[in-house]
Amino acid sequence: MNHPLILVIEDEESLRRFLVPTLTGQRYQVLSASTASEGLAMARSHNPDLVLLDLGLPDRDGMAVLEEFRSWSRKPVVILSARNQERDKVRALDHGADDYLAKPFGAFELLARIRVALRHTLPADLADPVVQGGGLRIDLERREVSHEGRSVKLTALEYKLLEALVRRDGKVATHSQLLAEVWGPGGEGHTHYLRIYMAMLRKKLEADPTRPRHFITEPNVGYRLILDGRGD
Ligand code: CA
Repeated sequence: MNHPLILVIEDEESLRRFLVPTLTGQRYQVLSASTASEGLAMARSHNPDLVLLDLGLPDRDGMAVLEEFRSWSRKPVVILSARNQERDKVRALDHGADDYLAKPFGAFELLARIRVALRHTLPADLADPVVQGGGLRIDLERREVSHEGRSVKLTALEYKLLEALVRRDGKVATHSQLLAEVWGPGGEGHTHYLRIYMAMLRKKLEADPTRPRHFITEPNVGYRLILDGRGD
C-alpha cells in the first residue's frame, strides 16, 4: 500500500521537529518546507495527498499559498493557526481549507484531524446513505433521524442544518458556510440563528445537551458533528 504523502509548510523549526516524526511514526510519507515559496514548489513537484499549512509564513501569507494550491489541487489542506489568528483561520476555511488545528495541539488531535481530512478524499460510499455512531442514526435518503433507537422529528431547518454537518463528515463547518447552506443569502451574518438551531438539535439529539458529544462548538469558527463519540 502507498502511504499518503503529507506536505508540512511551517516556519517554526520546533513545530516541524514535532510534526515530522509524529507523522512518519504513523507511516505517512512526509515532506517539509519552511517558507511559502519552498512549500509551493514542493507541492507542485510532489502533488501531496494533504497539506498542513501554517498561516504565518516569513515570505508570503499562508492564505496566498492556499489560493495558489487551490487553483490546481482539491487535496485537503489543514491550517495550522496561532490563537490570535481567528479571523485568518475562518477566512482560510471559507476559501477552501478543509480544517484547522489551533496551536498548541497534541499528537492525538493532529492525527485525528488528518484521518478525517484524508477520509474525505476517498471515494464516497454512495451505496449507503445512512451514517451512524454514538447512538445517533441519520438516513439521508429517507430523511429519518433517530437517537438511542427512537425516531426523532426535526423541523425542516433543523434537518437542513444537521444534513449540512453530516456532509462535512467530521470536518469543521464555518458559521458563514452553514448560514449560506441552510438559510441561503438571507442568512449572512445571522450567527445567532445557528446558536438557536444548534441548541434545538442538541436538545433533541444529545443525551445531555449541556455537555454535547456530537454537536461540537468550535469557538469563533463554527461547528462540527462527531458521530463516534470522540467529542469529549
Ligand atoms: Ca509561523
